[in-house]
Amino acid sequence: MYPFHWVPAGGARHASTDARPDGALAYPSGTGVRVLCGQELVADNSELAWLWGTCTDCHAAARRIADC
Ligand SMILES: [Zn+2]
Repeated sequence: MYPFHWVPAGGARHASTDARPDGALAYPSGTGVRVLCGQELVADNSELAWLWGTCTDCHAAARRIADC
């Protein structure tokens, strides 16, 4: 399991290494998260938000983590 999680926030799907609440499968809506592209955003766990496009910077950073 990789040490990051995908999180829809700010209009795109980002990745974050922040810990999620115990037992949660996703960051609850309204959770402040620091994402891999360096922004501080607020998670949106709505069904629609998961359809947002992937942040290219986070995708690149996540690939670097996953490859090592
Ligand atoms: Zn991002």
